[in-house]
Amino acid sequence: MFAGYIREIDSVGRIVVPMQYRKELGIVSKGSTVEMFCDGKQIVMKKATPNCIFCSSEDELVLFEGKYICKTCFEKIKNAE
Ligand SMILES: [Zn+2]
Repeated sequence: MFAGYIREIDSVGRIVVPMQYRKELGIVSKGSTVEMFCDGKQIVMKKATPNCIFCSSEDELVLFEGKYICKTCFEKIKNAE
């Protein structure tokens, strides 16, 4: 029974994510980003999706000065005094 890959962690904590998994998630190219969570027993890693720097929404994003802002927050900022 295949229970997953076993990888050795190097001296600074890096591991190689199996190419099969990178292809499945579309994180093959250099600069692809992932989010990681630890629940005390396991580390969960998923493809990072861009979200609003203010409210974390993933909907209707505008890229401004290298940061993502959702349309709602963008309008709030635009209408702020
Ligand atoms: Zn927002």
